[in-house]
Amino acid sequence: MDDDELRWISGTLERLSRSAFRAKFVLTDKDRAYARAKGKETIDRHAREMLRARVGDAVPKNDGRQTPWRGHPVFTAQHATATCCRGCIEKWHHIPKGRALTDVEVNRLADLVMAWIERDLTNHPAC
Ligand SMILES: [Zn+2]
Repeated sequence: MDDDELRWISGTLERLSRSAFRAKFVLTDKDRAYARAKGKETIDRHAREMLRARVGDAVPKNDGRQTPWRGHPVFTAQHATATCCRGCIEKWHHIPKGRALTDVEVNRLADLVMAWIERDLTNHPAC
């Protein structure tokens, strides 16, 4: 990850924190336990696979309703980071709807999702 991307991630997390809707999301205790048990590398892989499969196509299936509210830390993180559907991705991240996401875009959005998950885990240490 280069400096540009790190700056983009911290700026975007800051922007999202000013949205009452986005800022209210937190992981459940179950999600945190799952993320810690699986480890960062595995959750990172899940994030990339899930984003590619669910929002990566030009016209994703059930777009706007394809991301459950809970059930996997990546789902919750997607709502928190506005990577849940192509409408939110267009509005917040300025990637137009109607075309497939590039690998670079999928990876950037997955890095954002992972940064959000890492921050939640840091803010809620395991006891
Ligand atoms: Zn959305």
